[in-house]
Amino acid sequence: SAKAKGRDNLALFEPALDKAARERRTIETDLREAVPRGQLRMHYQPVIDLDTGATTSYEALLRWYHPQRGIVAPGEFLKIAEETGLIMLIGDWVIRQTLSEISTWPGDFRIAINLSPTQVLSPHLVALVAQAIDANGIAPERIEFEITEHVLMAEGDASYNALLRLRELGTKIALDDFGTGYSSLSYLRRFPFDRIKIDRHFVERIEDNTHDQAIVSSVTRLADAMGMQTTAEGIERRGQLDLLRKLGCNEAQGFLICHPLPGEAVYPGDHNDSVAAEHSDDLLAYRK
Ligand code: C2E
Ligand code: MG
Ligand code: MG
Ligand code: MG
Repeated sequence: SAKAKGRDNLALFEPALDKAARERRTIETDLREAVPRGQLRMHYQPVIDLDTGATTSYEALLRWYHPQRGIVAPGEFLKIAEETGLIMLIGDWVIRQTLSEISTWPGDFRIAINLSPTQVLSPHLVALVAQAIDANGIAPERIEFEITEHVLMAEGDASYNALLRLRELGTKIALDDFGTGYSSLSYLRRFPFDRIKIDRHFVERIEDNTHDQAIVSSVTRLADAMGMQTTAEGIERRGQLDLLRKLGCNEAQGFLICHPLPGEAVYPGDHNDSVAAEHSDDLLAYRK
């Protein structure tokens, strides 16, 4: 019978479920100790101006230096951090660490910091940001917080108010992974973002997909008309870079230009030219 079959299936999958649950618990236990044990680090990925090739900003990306697992990317632990509330501890650490680390780097680049829905809803976020800005003497307009559509989806009004208060501090707000949500355009009516980050899925096949070209070109014109800047994510080929510039995109980020790097690799040095170029002959040619 169907019922018996269901039971059999359940029995069949139980060990796998069990394993996943145990794995999750291990990550959670380890993650709880990651901040006190100093296992978290920030990596920084340069973003370039598509007209000049100069580095305009860095996006701060979290990495977990796990003693057994090696360097773990946020995709493997952010969801657990979010569900367990550990994101608060981790998120605070990210803001303090990033602003303190970059405060010694030369240049007036922007720094982009990602915020999760729980962080945005936290009543102490704005005070923490204000304190970190003060402690490190960083001009607030150099800081750009990146949020995804999930932030505005979760708790519309409360999140919207938090973003307005961050904006009042002088920081910028970018809409990350644009185009991947359910009603991307409606979020643009809801909040005056400074920047749209065009998700890498629209960039992936842009060289031979005329529909993707049309989407990106429309988004850049829309952004322009609304006084917003655009950054394209996930650029891996020179052809994408050239096309994005032609389509009116302002800035670009991706492995072609530079992988995310630990702070020590970004500074010291003439980071405006050497770091990214070192990682890409293609980019070097682009800048000539
Ligand atoms: P995101 O904010 O959209 O960041 C861009 C992601 O794309 C990064 O993944 C980056 O390493 C990756 N990437 C950059 N260039 C390329 C490329 O050319 N090709 C491909 N395939 N990928 C590229 P990462 O570092 O694994 O981060 C994943 C996501 O985790 C981020 O997506 C962001 O939403 C979140 N995240 C990262 N760091 C933090 C953090 O400190 N706090 C919070 N709340 N979220 C974070
Ligand atoms: Mg981001
Ligand atoms: Mg993104
Ligand atoms: Mg993305």
